[in-house]
Amino acid sequence: CRASSDSDVTPSGKEVLPVHGLSETIVGVLGGGQLGRMLCQAASKMAIKVMVLDPQENCPASKLAYHHMVGSFDDSATVQEFAKRCGVLTVEIEHVDVDTLEKLEQQGVDCQPKASTIRIIQDKYLQKVHFSKHDIPLPEFMQIDDLEGAKRAGDLFDYPLMIKSKRLAYDGRGNAVAKSEDDLSSAVIALGGFDRGLYVEKWAPFVKELAVIVARGRDNSIVCYPVVETIHKENICHIVRAPANVSWKIRKLATDIASRAVSSLEGAGVFAVELFLTVDDQILLNEVAPRPHNSGHHTIEACYTSQYEQHLRAVVGLPLGDPSMKTPAAIMYNLLGEDEGEAGFHLANQVIGRALHIPGATVHWYDKPDMRKQRKMGHITIVGPSMGNVEKFLYSMLNDEISDSQ
Ligand code: ATP
Ligand code: MG
Ligand code: MG
Repeated sequence: CRASSDSDVTPSGKEVLPVHGLSETIVGVLGGGQLGRMLCQAASKMAIKVMVLDPQENCPASKLAYHHMVGSFDDSATVQEFAKRCGVLTVEIEHVDVDTLEKLEQQGVDCQPKASTIRIIQDKYLQKVHFSKHDIPLPEFMQIDDLEGAKRAGDLFDYPLMIKSKRLAYDGRGNAVAKSEDDLSSAVIALGGFDRGLYVEKWAPFVKELAVIVARGRDNSIVCYPVVETIHKENICHIVRAPANVSWKIRKLATDIASRAVSSLEGAGVFAVELFLTVDDQILLNEVAPRPHNSGHHTIEACYTSQYEQHLRAVVGLPLGDPSMKTPAAIMYNLLGEDEGEAGFHLANQVIGRALHIPGATVHWYDKPDMRKQRKMGHITIVGPSMGNVEKFLYSMLNDEISDSQ
């Protein structure tokens, strides 16, 4: 309780208490996975209270959050109940109940980014329509409703053809490649059929995948993190190299497109823009995530302001921090489950054991109770004086023979 002399009164007569510290806004996060966990870690430095809503009792964020409400972020009544307790509502996953978010906004609940943004992004086809209207370069795309439509798309875009489900896609689950017309029906079946809502994208013949984290403050100020290169393994982000080894011209083009894409969406927060670099130096947008992202994990050790701190600053209305790198080079390596159960934990522990001997390496473990193949269990960031230097340590971490001989 504060002395009344500390407080102010607004014209409406409502008492406004002065802020002690950075912000007293309680941040509600829909989702309590590893991104929510790292938001909680950043919040702890600033003494910002983060509440998470996640159905899993022992989700990665549960032990670090100010409060964990156990419940579904896709259930209307639960999200409404959760929102009542928060000063601002944000997300660490886009697959949330957006109708409820829209209703809550109408009732005056502060959602950042805006529900309109989540609605566009959670449907990849809508996302593509939106960005093409805003003149953002994309691979060509079209909706498919039946096999005839898929064949027409194949004739138009040629093969290989990327078939994607519009909704609930992540880590490549929701993508299928048809190498020829003969593959179309099995690819569609693998994605759950046309009823699931499918569209196709022309194959992007990329030479590199790039990503840019863009942050927008509540005052609409925008900052962009240095362009990174992302390397995927079976459609899952596996390695991130920061900064990307591309020309100044490509860095500028990628940053401009990312910044324009985010400017077309509403609300504050951090956004990740995934891009393709083609052989003829074009940049095409793949997709945007309206939240902190795997391609920005390295910012914790490598940048003055991490993407997690930045997201919190943005949604509570603090000035945005400096996104630039404070170390010349960084590599992030995702610890993806390589086997089920104990065998998988054992393999991960071997890599972690080697990482602990590497100068400049930081190990993040998400504390997920179950190990599964391809599951994101943790990550390791290595920072150093040059890309050659951190690459050398990455190889030694991944190859016990090299590290044993060091
Ligand atoms: P995320 O985990 O990033 O949300 P996702 O399930 O939404 O992944 P996408 O980003 O659509 O999947 O695609 C996953 C990967 O598949 C891309 O990073 C890229 O390597 C490849 N890919 C996607 N679209 C295309 C395309 N049109 N042409 C070629 N490769 C593509
Ligand atoms: Mg995605
Ligand atoms: Mg993606």
